[in-house]
Amino acid sequence: MALNLLTAVAVGFVLTQIANVATTVYLHRSLAHRAVTLSPALTLVFRSIIWLLTGIRPRQWAAVHRKHHAFTDEDEDPHSPAQLGWVRVQLTNVMLYRRVARDPEQVAKYARDLPQSTVDKYLLDHALVGLGLTTAALMLLLGPGYGLFATVFHFVLYLGLSGAVNAVAHTFGKRPYDNSATNLQWLAFLTCGEGLHNNHHAAPTSARFALQSGQMDPGWWVIRVARRLGHATIRHDSPVFANPPRMNV
Ligand SMILES: [Zn+2]
Ligand SMILES: [Zn+2]
Repeated sequence: MALNLLTAVAVGFVLTQIANVATTVYLHRSLAHRAVTLSPALTLVFRSIIWLLTGIRPRQWAAVHRKHHAFTDEDEDPHSPAQLGWVRVQLTNVMLYRRVARDPEQVAKYARDLPQSTVDKYLLDHALVGLGLTTAALMLLLGPGYGLFATVFHFVLYLGLSGAVNAVAHTFGKRPYDNSATNLQWLAFLTCGEGLHNNHHAAPTSARFALQSGQMDPGWWVIRVARRLGHATIRHDSPVFANPPRMNV
């Protein structure tokens, strides 16, 4: 009994980490910022992971995120702790995301370079199909109760960590560069590098988020392996800063 519960927690945690790799490398660094170009094969792997483990439609995610960069902490920022408070962003991140993601005009405006493919239209944009398949597989594998528990655990953790990048990593932590985002190494470990958010806002097209000594960005390690295997091309080898960076040192 206790072992099964522990197994369900471990499975849920591993699924969240797999989803986090796909989120940071594919949705964030590749699609939203073009910091890295992935091969068609690796793109398909990550696209499938996003479908099965998150139900996110990539062009919607990219649109919401690009709008966040365009209007960080201004009225139009989809999820600004400076405007709404970090607790509200943390707890209602999904609702805040949906306000922009479900608006076809805004998605067309911010993700016009990411059109819906035929496979998206008939399969991968159907979130409930992907999530239903994952839930059914887990229930078969772990039994109905523990399978459902692992699914719910994964979603709560994935959504909580995604919310934390937008809320906690714009509120608490170090700001080596002059922007409102913060660096939190503990969050970076749990989100495959996303917690180094101050560095990312300073150099949004950098595929590598660790920019100071001692920082670790697991997403960059994945990209380096993919590059070595011929599945990734990096846009710049050295980070290119959006504005001349002003270091807060
Ligand atoms: Zn941000
Ligand atoms: Zn970004």
